[in-house]
Amino acid sequence: MTKRLENKVVMVTGGARGIGAAVCEVFANEGATVIVTDILDEQGLALAQRLPNNSVFYALDVAVESQWQALSDVVIKEYGRLDVLVNNAGITGLAETEGAHDPENFELDAWHKVHAINLDGVALGCKYGIRMMKTSKAASIVNISSRSGMVGIPGAAAYASSKAAIRNHSKTVALHCASHGYPIRCNSIHPGAILTPIWDAMLGEGPDRDAAIKHMAREIPIGHMGEPQDVAYAALFLASDESKYITGSELTIDGGILAGSSASPGAQQED
Ligand code: NAD
Repeated sequence: MTKRLENKVVMVTGGARGIGAAVCEVFANEGATVIVTDILDEQGLALAQRLPNNSVFYALDVAVESQWQALSDVVIKEYGRLDVLVNNAGITGLAETEGAHDPENFELDAWHKVHAINLDGVALGCKYGIRMMKTSKAASIVNISSRSGMVGIPGAAAYASSKAAIRNHSKTVALHCASHGYPIRCNSIHPGAILTPIWDAMLGEGPDRDAAIKHMAREIPIGHMGEPQDVAYAALFLASDESKYITGSELTIDGGILAGSSASPGAQQED
């Protein structure tokens, strides 16, 4: 049987661990040649070496345009095209910067850093992605936003703002490509509460960590946090030609968190 990404050349940003690594594994197992990229060289290289189909690793800081330029030159030279780009790299800023992240007390440097990686990184990815994808027969950009891009997050204002902007920019890119007749679709994915290292700063370690995970689970309608593969399989659908009529859309993967509100009258009775 033909694999779902047979003969596709795929690039994943932030691919060394977490959701990105799961995307790389699932895509490679579906026949893709995966270009794993990240700022974590050792982890990224180790992953690429385990993957089939001549998958490779390249260092890429998504916030640096010259690195996108250089890598897109390499991809065009080596492969002639890119078929799928998953713009996955992202940070909350909570571990990477000092100080509060609420709208009243945030530090402007921290705000800029979060937007540089999350938003500039995706915008540059789309810019160079389009450049690499024009020669593809059927290309797909999958931008990893967040459920935090759809609601307010008082303790992570920059993160929420950057993720909301990704949601909107994905639609702009989708329309731009469609109106120019490019063979490129663009959609966003909105994960929520997926257990990866991004949560380490919030969940802590040891016995407290398990208690924190259980506490989180109480807020998730499905009753537990998600796994990176839950996002990877949705990305697989959007990356493959099975979704050839889908562009400018958004897919929430959050165990039902955004489906309702905890302020419903039933909530108290159930507790
Ligand atoms: P993670 O921290 O495990 O992975 C993020 C990856 O991005 C890491 O490999 C990291 O090295 C890389 N990265 C960070 N800065 C980079 C840069 N400047 N250039 C290139 N790579 C960089 O977290 P994750 O949960 O796997 O997150 C992946 C994406 O999913 C992020 O965009 C995150 O915002 C999003 N997301 C995650 C969740 C969740 O619950 N885990 C929820 C919503 C959205």
